[in-house]
Formats: sequence, C-alpha cells, structure tokens
Amino acid sequence: MPRTLITSALPYINGIKHLGNLVGSQLPADVYARYLRARGHEVMFICATDEHGTPAELAAAKAGEPVADYCARMWGEQKALAEGFRLSFDHFGRSSSPENRRLTQHFAGRLADAGLIAEVMERQVYSPADGRFLPDRYIEGTCPNCGYPRARGDQCENCTKQLDPTDLIDPRSAISGSTDLEVRETKHLYLRQSALREELRAWIDSKTDWPILSTSIAHKWLDDGDGLQDRGITRDLDWGVPVMRGTEPWPGMEGKVFYVWFDAPIEYIAATAEWAHANGLPESAWRRWWREDEGAADVRYVEFMGKDNVPFHTLSFPATILGSGERWKLVDYIKSFNYLNYDGGKFSTSQGRGVFMDQALAILPSDYWRWWLLSNVPEGGDANFTWESFQAGVNKDLADVLGNFVSRVTKFAAARFGAAVPDGGDWGPLEVEAAENVANGIVAYQTAMDAIQLRRAAQELRQLWVTGNEYLQAAAPWTAIKTDPGRAATITRFAFDLIALYAALSEPFIPDAAAAMRHALGLDAAPWPDDPADALGRLPAGQPFEVPPVLFAKLDDARRAELEAQFAGAA
Ligand SMILES: [Zn+2]
Repeated sequence: MPRTLITSALPYINGIKHLGNLVGSQLPADVYARYLRARGHEVMFICATDEHGTPAELAAAKAGEPVADYCARMWGEQKALAEGFRLSFDHFGRSSSPENRRLTQHFAGRLADAGLIAEVMERQVYSPADGRFLPDRYIEGTCPNCGYPRARGDQCENCTKQLDPTDLIDPRSAISGSTDLEVRETKHLYLRQSALREELRAWIDSKTDWPILSTSIAHKWLDDGDGLQDRGITRDLDWGVPVMRGTEPWPGMEGKVFYVWFDAPIEYIAATAEWAHANGLPESAWRRWWREDEGAADVRYVEFMGKDNVPFHTLSFPATILGSGERWKLVDYIKSFNYLNYDGGKFSTSQGRGVFMDQALAILPSDYWRWWLLSNVPEGGDANFTWESFQAGVNKDLADVLGNFVSRVTKFAAARFGAAVPDGGDWGPLEVEAAENVANGIVAYQTAMDAIQLRRAAQELRQLWVTGNEYLQAAAPWTAIKTDPGRAATITRFAFDLIALYAALSEPFIPDAAAAMRHALGLDAAPWPDDPADALGRLPAGQPFEVPPVLFAKLDDARRAELEAQFAGAA
C-alpha cells in the first residue's frame, strides 16, 4: 500500500482564520488527503496550531487571559471550525505540546553537537519595571520621521518607516508604559544556515518536479545579496519552548525560549507523535512516518502552504533536519499557493472586511464554501472572491448541474418505478457514448488530482456532472416511459449508476453531499472506480433508494446583495 504523509501549514493561534487562510493550505491539503485515501493510500494528515511568539502574548493580554489559557481556548475554537469545514486531519495538534518541546530541544542539541549553532551577544532594550527584555513590538514611542506618537519599535504604522527601537523619541514599554528603559547585553543562539547553503542547494536542485513558485523563492533566498543568512533561533520571552541542549541545560541561556519559527515546523513531527500518544500507540507508530531508518523510507511527504511560508519550508526547516545528521524525512513535494483576495482587496480583521471561517459556516454549509474555494484555488496567480462569483458557483455548478441531476433522477424513478432501482436492459448507443465520456473524464480527473492541480481537477469533476445531465436530456426517460417502459427503466438504471459514481468521485471536494448521495442510494460506501472503463453498472438492481432532500439550495440576488453589504467592511 503506498504511504503518503501530508502536512498543512500551521494556522497561527491568535484568532479565527479567514477564507483566504483556509484555501491557502488546510483545505487543498484535505482534498488531496481524501483523494489518496479513496485511491487506497495509507495517509497520515497532520495540522496543528502555531502557538508561540509575541503575537500570541499580545493577543492573550488584549483578551485579559493568561497566554496558556488563551491558546488552549483558541485551539479549541480552531479545531471546531476545522471539523465544521470537514477537514479530515488524522490529528490537529498544538505546537505548545510536550512532544514538540522535547523534539525542539532534541534538534537544537543535535545542531549544536554538529557545530551549527553560534552563540551571539546582542544589545536589546530591557525594562526594569517589567523585569524583562522588550521585543520590538513591545516598545512604543514617537516616530522620528512623521511624529506619530504610537509608533512601534519595528515600524511606524502611520508612515510605514522601518525602525529600530533606539530610533524612537520618548520610548516606553507597551506593557507597563514605563519610560525607564535601558540597553543590556543578552546572548542568543543562531542557526548557521550559511554553513548548509551548498547542501541545501544540491537538495533543492534535485527537486526537478517542484512548482516554479516553490523553487524560485528558495533560490532567491539562497543567492540574494550575501546569500543565505544565519538566523536567530532564540528570544527573551516567557512563552515558548525553553532553551535546552537536548535534555541538558544550556549555560547562559536560562530563562530564554526558542523563537517560534524554529519550533513551529518541528511540530509537524511532534503532532504525529501527539497522534500516536492520543491513540495509545507505541513510539514506532509515529516514527515509521518520519524516520527513514525506522520504516519511513517508502513514505512520500507532501507539504501544503501559502507562498509566504515557502522560505521556511525550503530552507530553514530542511536546514534543521539536514543539520541534525539523523535520517528524518525531508519533504518530497511542496504545493504552494498564491493569495485569495476579497472583492479586489485584502481580507482585514480590524476593518471587518471579508468572510472568516466562523461567519462562513453560519451562512451556508461547508460544501458550498469548499466547492467555490477549491474550484477557484489561487494556483496560477492570486484569486479573487466576489459574491457574484460565489453565487454563480453555487447556483450553476452545485444546484443546476449536480443537485438537479440527482433530484430529477430520483423523483422520476420514485414516481414511475417505486422505491427500488429498476432492472435495466441492454445499453443503447447513448449509454455506450456516455460511459465512454465518463471513463475518459475519470482518467482526466485522476491525472489532475495526481498532479495536485486542483482547479483543473474541479473542472474535470464538474464536466463529469455535466456529462450526466447531457445524457439524461438526450435519453429523455420521461418521453420513453410513454411508449417503451423497458427503455425508460434502462435509462433510469444508468442514471442511478451515475449518482453512485458521483458519490465516490465528488467526496474529496464536497464530502457532505457525497454522503447524502450514498445515503439516498442506501450505500454504506461508494468505492473509487479502480477501472474507469468499468465504472458504471455496479449498483445492484432492486437496491432501495430514497429521494434525498435538496442537495444545494440556490443563492438568490436579494440574499447576495445582503451578504455583500454585510462583509464590505467599515469604509
Ligand atoms: Zn512615522
């Protein structure tokens, strides 16, 4: 059985994600995972919340909660929304888990042993009143460029000038407001990525099948300016993985934590360990997915992410793995995405612009969103959500094509043949032609899915639904029934076979509708047609069926206008 490990980029913990985040990694990863399971792969599909770092601390402070409580609560909310969108993770973990703590410390120890960690003295702002070093975002003051009084230590929000905290006029702590600030020396660890530059280059150059979007970004970071830079992997914060050299203390690093970008990708591995522990399985159960010397040599590892995450996944995380000198699994294929915009602009939390995951599910069930997002996934370039386009996708693809087909066939059959699938006679030319179109369509659909070209796959799936409608229109069982009931039964039987086939083929994209189709036909499962040429004629005659409730309701113009106004954001 082929084995595929799939990870989705980790959503950051500080709030509910919008539809652009969803379609940028988690949702496409889910479609691919569902497809491979249907094709008989053993799949491990992993995601988790990314919980460390300053933004989590700031969001928790704003919510008036201890950061650990805040993260636990937001993890629960994100997990519930993932379930609402039917994201079929084998495990949805947390980067703050004990598993990730141990693995992050383990990797740091291995890298230090290999001479790939440098200890560097830095000068940073310290606040005696707060009893801590202040990261850039924790320092506020007056912008020296434009005079804006609430500029942050890293950037002025008003004039966008990049700043150092020492540039600010009248700097103060964003936590306590204290102006008693001083510059102190503090030691930090740097990952010597530059020492791994040629090893990383050789590895990336071996990936001749990767999308240009992935390799071009990697090459830019390898070669721009002075080439790949060493990166700080520690911070003077409380919230994070404490710095340890494996299981040993790290002299001079007491009270410091690893920087979030170092521990977050390691959580892919740790979340798989969390999965094993949550299911009472031995260590070998997760290590066989990740250690090539412990059973993972035959695993294909595919990562899904937005383009902004590509540098971390092509360079930083591989540097951690290669530098460890242990045989951890490196990624085999990176599927990266452009951005989804909202009605020509950006999604914005602060301005209430665009649709967020919780709002989407309150408006319509997940299949509606899954279909539009996946058939418009930003693969070739950025994509744009408009309510007009969403309405067209719902009404034309889902309601008029797929929903209408299922409704017409089951209603006609119930009225003319009772509550069981009729016995069909021999196929005529129309059935032969439709079966051939379906077989070709399945091959095209599978080819697109195997290549993870999801926009094309959605088009091929839709075309398969169209084939059924065209067949039904040409065969016209409602006319045949008047003169030749046997012929009408053959047509109806063939159309039922198409519904059973759609239940199997549509499942990766619209799992709830697929389940409703299976349920209407009284099927526990709708197995994938392994032989496209033999995809039809598998439903037994006499199989009881029910007319299902409407699969997809149309979105009318008045409701569309209402939604447009609701999500336009503050002007
Ligand atoms: Zn300014």
